[in-house]
Amino acid sequence: MPTDFARTRAQFDLPQDVIYLDGNSLGPLPRAVAARVQQAVTDEWGQMLITGWNKAGWMALPTRIGDRIARLIGAEPGHVVMGDTLSIKVYQALASCLEMRPGKRVILSDTGNFPSDLYMAEGLCRTLGQGYTLKTVAPEEVENAIDDSVAVLMLTEVDYRTGRRHDMPALTAKAHAVGALAVWDLAHSAGATDVQVGQGGADFAVGCTYKYLNSGPGGPAFIYVAPRHVDVARPALSGWLGHEAPFAFDLDYRPGHGIERMRVGTPPVLQLAALDAALDVWDGVSIADLRARSLELTDAFIAGVEARCPSLTLSTPRDHGRRGSQVSFRHPEGYAIMQALIARGVIGDFRAPDTMRFGFTPLFIGLDDVQRAVDILADIMATDAWDRPEFKIRSAIT
Ligand SMILES: *Cc1c(COP(=O)(O)O)cnc(C)c1O
Repeated sequence: MPTDFARTRAQFDLPQDVIYLDGNSLGPLPRAVAARVQQAVTDEWGQMLITGWNKAGWMALPTRIGDRIARLIGAEPGHVVMGDTLSIKVYQALASCLEMRPGKRVILSDTGNFPSDLYMAEGLCRTLGQGYTLKTVAPEEVENAIDDSVAVLMLTEVDYRTGRRHDMPALTAKAHAVGALAVWDLAHSAGATDVQVGQGGADFAVGCTYKYLNSGPGGPAFIYVAPRHVDVARPALSGWLGHEAPFAFDLDYRPGHGIERMRVGTPPVLQLAALDAALDVWDGVSIADLRARSLELTDAFIAGVEARCPSLTLSTPRDHGRRGSQVSFRHPEGYAIMQALIARGVIGDFRAPDTMRFGFTPLFIGLDDVQRAVDILADIMATDAWDRPEFKIRSAIT
């Protein structure tokens, strides 16, 4: 049965008169989340107190929900666990990989990567010393830069600025051919593309849940470790909940079985409850349908804007195989144009120096929204409605 996107859309409470094209940055609130969080607070925490760890299944949430994410990213069941933030998970994955490739010293990434991933890699190299370095090249040059010196290829599949998508299977195969491991960041892929970490050969994958998966601000991240590594990888962040027997309170660390070893400390139970309810929206959603719908929406937006706003420059690839689920246009006054759009109910965002980003999230955005957003943008451009002082004042968070 084809996915019913009218049904998924009805499961969100979006404010009236808003076209929300920023679900790639912070997903909106699914209707069922508030009641589920209320229940976790009142019935579980309030009534069960500490027995909630067993009775309400709090301790099992990171792996139980990890399995729900696994389906969305093409991971083998039992190989995804939730916890911490994405930056922490990047560090964890990199540290494990470097230990698994002791003869090599280079982490290779690209200049389109999200800065936090690069900062974490840089920090890890400094901590390790011994000649470890982070090397970055332009996204188009990654393939040629994969050589024998590389221990780990660390890439974000979909570029947060341009929406350009890397070829995960091809780049991973090239990394493996020179003896390197591949860590993929799925921040803009999970719930947005038909990413398949298992088939794609990823060694490790990480991602956040507050973007396309709608867990809410501060929602926990996930980490995937391929079956061939999961009982070999040593967790650099060796917290008690990744221990083989946390409640034995041994003085020595022994990594837990399988993916459990990637847990660190106490899970964020209330945020996981929110995520659990948010994932209900995905029941019955086929990822192939999601991908087809996403391409239909981004194609329609690109065609509409290019036809009616000639001063905007597309920075997203036209080729479907190289596109994620967002569209970016550049303009020197991009910041002011985005503020004018937001004032008229079309919410996207801006990334310095000149990029306007529009995220397309099939769960709640339809072709009617795309058409309406194009109409409003075309009107703003035709009338120079963006050219007002109040649209040029920069907020701290863009
Ligand atoms: C959103 C995003 C992050 C954010 O990391 P947090 O630790 O969750 O704040 C990191 N990396 C990429 C690629 C992202 O898109």
